[in-house]
Amino acid sequence: MKVLIAEDDATSRRVLEVLLQKSGYEVEVTHDGAEALSRLRMPGAPDIAILDWMMPEMDGVEICRQLRAHEPTVPRYLILLTAKGKTEEVVEGLTSGADDYVTKPFERKELLARLKVGERIITLQKDIIAAREELRILATQDSLTATWNRRVILDHVGQELTRAQRKRSSLSLAMVDLDHFKRINDHYGHLGGDEVLREVSRRLSASLRPYDAVGRFGGEEFLVVMAECGEAEARSVGERLRTCVSETPIQWETHAIEVTISVGVATAGDTSGLTVENLIRLADDALYRAKSAGRNRVEYLGME
Ligand code: GH3
Ligand code: MG
Ligand code: MG
Ligand code: MG
Repeated sequence: MKVLIAEDDATSRRVLEVLLQKSGYEVEVTHDGAEALSRLRMPGAPDIAILDWMMPEMDGVEICRQLRAHEPTVPRYLILLTAKGKTEEVVEGLTSGADDYVTKPFERKELLARLKVGERIITLQKDIIAAREELRILATQDSLTATWNRRVILDHVGQELTRAQRKRSSLSLAMVDLDHFKRINDHYGHLGGDEVLREVSRRLSASLRPYDAVGRFGGEEFLVVMAECGEAEARSVGERLRTCVSETPIQWETHAIEVTISVGVATAGDTSGLTVENLIRLADDALYRAKSAGRNRVEYLGME
């Protein structure tokens, strides 16, 4: 684990550096508080810092305050190392945001034991953050295609519709359904079908603008949400989606699988007053038309 030592006294700095290196830590050193703060904020910064209280430019207590005020959720273990040992000073140091407090002259064994405590806490904090991130992904993404799941994409439609009504702009949806997907499953098996779903969702995502969103609405259906997008643009996005799937067959094992989609595009104009349900029904109806008219096509329905 990496440790930053910030200490303006050259002898103490050297003693600490040697001690920590011998104990297997990767060590960064600085003699200046402002520099310590900026190093702790860099990407890949040390997780543990031993900070002297009295230093030029910025003292150790101020470093703790700044880090806790501006980056309270970043896992960091801050140890104040100082000759100041009065109770009020210890209290001030800990209140500033330090995790631990060691007075000079320090006992080597004790400092190393306290560093171990820091390591343990940092590891736990990082595990919790990773677990939380994993849960967030599980709760929001579709596990097969890594697009948004149905709940998230529907929430997104709701938010965008509210925003569009407030800003008097248009919102468009594209309901995408794979054509004769049952046949693909029958012919290539479910694993082949799954790969087709993954590749189609990759192609859809790659064809969209950064502020558009795509989610898996059902088995082989995707819902695309296009913010601030009126009829003309939505139609052309729909056409782009259709071509990006049909123009190149999907490679799976030794097969080149020809896939097409039907797309129902719907727009809620700036005064439509449509609800989420109405707008989705409109996109669904447009999709139904595309299917009836022969598939591999885009149909449009809108409401001003
Ligand atoms: P259409 O052109 O009318 O849409 O015909 P279709 O065969 O695509 O439509 P249908 O709704 O009859 O069939 C959809 C199929 O999608 C049925 C279901 O087994 C399959 N499916 C749904 N989810 C998955 C999945 O996660 N993986 C795979 N491989 N198949 C799935
Ligand atoms: Mg000092
Ligand atoms: Mg289908
Ligand atoms: Mg379907």
